[in-house]
Amino acid sequence: MNAPSPSVVCSGLSGLQRMLPAGKALLARRIVAAGGIPDEAQFDRQGLRLTAGEAQALRDWLAVGLATTVVEQVRAADGTVKLLLGLFDGKRVETVAMPVGACCVSTQVGCAVGCRFCASGLFGVERHLSSDEIVEQVVHARRVMRIDRVVFMGMGEPSHNLDNVMAAVARIRDEVLISPRRQTFSTVGGVRALERMRGFAVRPCLALSLHVADDARRRELLPNAHKDPLRDIVAAADAYSRDVGTPVQFEWTLLAGVNDGEADVEQLCELLQGVRGFVNFIVYNPVEGLPFAAPPRERIVAMVRAVKARGILATIRDSSGPDAQAACGQLRLRDRV
Ligand code: SF4
Repeated sequence: MNAPSPSVVCSGLSGLQRMLPAGKALLARRIVAAGGIPDEAQFDRQGLRLTAGEAQALRDWLAVGLATTVVEQVRAADGTVKLLLGLFDGKRVETVAMPVGACCVSTQVGCAVGCRFCASGLFGVERHLSSDEIVEQVVHARRVMRIDRVVFMGMGEPSHNLDNVMAAVARIRDEVLISPRRQTFSTVGGVRALERMRGFAVRPCLALSLHVADDARRRELLPNAHKDPLRDIVAAADAYSRDVGTPVQFEWTLLAGVNDGEADVEQLCELLQGVRGFVNFIVYNPVEGLPFAAPPRERIVAMVRAVKARGILATIRDSSGPDAQAACGQLRLRDRV
């Protein structure tokens, strides 16, 4: 699948890169990313006076602007805001801005992994997002609230769109000024993708979605995830995170009667022995039409205690914004065209 090109050549933040010299383009992109509108006076103050041609190029870009537009905005009771963004080809993706200062971005239109419990994978994947379309989600979220953390946990599997996502990580550092240490790449794995990630100059923190710790059952629950043995995927994640210097976050969406048993905890702890990381238990958010539910609270707490008793750090994540259908696993393709 090829990355798309915008229908108007100079739209999107990267359009500025094509229209202005590098230093001036970077300043313009930072101003836009901070929610401002670049003008000549701002360049003057930085000692970067625009030529007449550059000033005209900037005006031309401002007339076109970003490659994405906010089509709809829904605010949940807890302050979480879900943004529905329109793309140049009429597709739609969702981005979530959370009051804790985090922005959950999508990386593809749809998702090929097809996790049984997730709304995003219900219709498969339509296409990758470009790095502009990823970075601009953070820009739009910043216009709604303070954002200083980015998680690649929205619609799509980031490792399936690796080059564009890693380009976006670097651009979010350079243009939006959010360190890669405050960016988390969430993946179902694949040894090859994790090894490739080690070769990028700018690397985010890593979250590995396990959900079950048994290979055969994981293939049922995540039917199109990479078929590498879990032990190899975990080892590759551990190697990546040791390179980067931050622990792996192991994600486990809690599904009553599916992965909340004592045997599940046992397998999980076995799998993670000697690995530098922690478990993030995600309380499942119901998705209409899917036959899953979250375990009772006592069971969740018991699982956390059992994991901690084995010397592995564990936390519980109650997702943001379930009443706006903005929580983990609830983002779905809408207004499909
Ligand atoms: S949970 Fe993630 S990887 Fe699985 S279908 Fe949903 S978006 Fe794709």
